[in-house]
Amino acid sequence: MQEIAPGIARIATSFVNAYFVGEPGGNWAVVDTGLPGFGDKVIAAAEKRFGPRSRPVGVFLTHGHFDHAGNARFLADHWGVPIYAHRLELPYLTGRSDYPVPDPTVGGAIAMLSRVLPYGGRDLGNRMRLLSPDEGTTTGGTLPGLDGWRWTFTPGHSPGHVSFFRPSDRALIAGDAVVTLNMDSYLGLLVTHQQEIAQGGAPFVSDWEHYRQSVLELAELAPAVLACGHGTPMTHDEVAIDLERFARTFTPPPRGRYVAEPAHTDERGVDWLPPKPSDPFPYLVGLFGVGLALAFALLPGKRRD
Ligand SMILES: [Zn+2]
Ligand SMILES: [Zn+2]
Repeated sequence: MQEIAPGIARIATSFVNAYFVGEPGGNWAVVDTGLPGFGDKVIAAAEKRFGPRSRPVGVFLTHGHFDHAGNARFLADHWGVPIYAHRLELPYLTGRSDYPVPDPTVGGAIAMLSRVLPYGGRDLGNRMRLLSPDEGTTTGGTLPGLDGWRWTFTPGHSPGHVSFFRPSDRALIAGDAVVTLNMDSYLGLLVTHQQEIAQGGAPFVSDWEHYRQSVLELAELAPAVLACGHGTPMTHDEVAIDLERFARTFTPPPRGRYVAEPAHTDERGVDWLPPKPSDPFPYLVGLFGVGLALAFALLPGKRRD
């Protein structure tokens, strides 16, 4: 557990971050829940920070991908608290729809890995609650039970993605709207984990224009603390400048399933997906396998006397 700003602690679950917000002795919440299987670690960290009998006001999800919502039900059941997410994320958290199929052709390390990562919806049942927008807007609101924090609608990475912002010190928890780890680089993702602002989970982005808009809107918040779903949180003096530069120069990848046309989604989930692009990778793996099998078959075996 790492304190990154007053009242914000990071819990690393492998390459995914969960966060506690709120001070010991006051109201607190869990923001994203980490990789499946790390629920006990999150509970142990919570007991250490807030005391063994303390419980949060709720679990707040930036979005419902497996690496963020993986322990949501486990934690919410343990404490008997609600789970909050955006209206457009609900179909994937109530078992109604799977997410748009990830796009391995978009390029990069996490795109290659996405071939084996889950993208199914999950059913968090009667624990689910909606994040309500403030009157007169649809794009942001306060967090129930948590003073000083707001949610802001940042779709693109997922249809109902939100980010959480505390205006008093401009702390931003951005989920996968942006990340502080280059997940497209094999070296960055698997070896160095170097801290840098980068696009979040490209193969899962199903609407690149919404994604680009969301990055620009986050940059306008001029955060002083940037805590994301992946990577070490940033707290240096020039975070806002770095994010502004990233947003200003950001362009969607040159190719990919959802680049020319986004997935069509609504409050019922996925409605239509662009056609699957040609992807030679599985054939190459298949060819390699056949070649290997042939080589073994044709190798001269040991003859029995
Ligand atoms: Zn994600
Ligand atoms: Zn993620």
